[in-house]
Amino acid sequence: NDAATWGKVDDYVTEHLIPYDEVLEKVLAANREAGLPEIDVSPAQGKLLNVIVQIKGAKRILEIGTLGGYSTIWMARAIGAEGRLISLELDPHHAKVAKSNVALAGLEDRVSIRVGDALVQLEQLAEEKTEPFDLIFIDADKPNNPNYLKWALQFSKAGTVIISDNVIRNGEVIDYHSTDPRVHGIRKFMDMLSADSAIAGTAIQTVGSKGYDGFYIGIVQ
Ligand code: SAM
Repeated sequence: NDAATWGKVDDYVTEHLIPYDEVLEKVLAANREAGLPEIDVSPAQGKLLNVIVQIKGAKRILEIGTLGGYSTIWMARAIGAEGRLISLELDPHHAKVAKSNVALAGLEDRVSIRVGDALVQLEQLAEEKTEPFDLIFIDADKPNNPNYLKWALQFSKAGTVIISDNVIRNGEVIDYHSTDPRVHGIRKFMDMLSADSAIAGTAIQTVGSKGYDGFYIGIVQ
């Protein structure tokens, strides 16, 4: 098996389990047209986020790293009209495209995209005394993952689900000689989790159209 097979199997899964969705197709087309990098979650992963939000019954979601709002839309669809999702994005161009995509999906009433450095935004949310979130999805600059984890734990209550994408990195996560700051960020993130009994979780390796990677999922105790 190789990456081509993983991609074909992902297509098979998508064809069978993820009904054709004109809005999401338009969102991906708008992202391509706007020159956004294709680093959003895959359809199967987006659907997984949607299903996890439903399982949790999450009504308040924090997302760190919006890009064009693809994962945002998958999750926001599952929180109901009274639900709220705050998504943080550094790049004003990404945020602009995401806002337009969220409007296209008819979700602007429940989604707020905040533009600027996530660490500054998280500080701001703390100042606003934001209510704890039911689910937090960390998917921004990986060197900052340890900082995002600290904030995520601060904005949690018992039962909050924390998910972080790209924690396997083609297996590089076990390379302690790595000079890649993203690998360092993930390794520190894993060390913090390993030492913290306030959250119970695991990491799952994945293959698919986005290659070999994986995600962390945990629940705050
Ligand atoms: N969650 C998105 C999805 O699946 O559709 C993909 C997010 S993409 C992997 C990461 C995003 O984080 C990029 O849009 C990038 O501009 C943003 N980002 C990078 N550094 C950031 C920072 N310091 N604060 C906020 N966002 C940041």
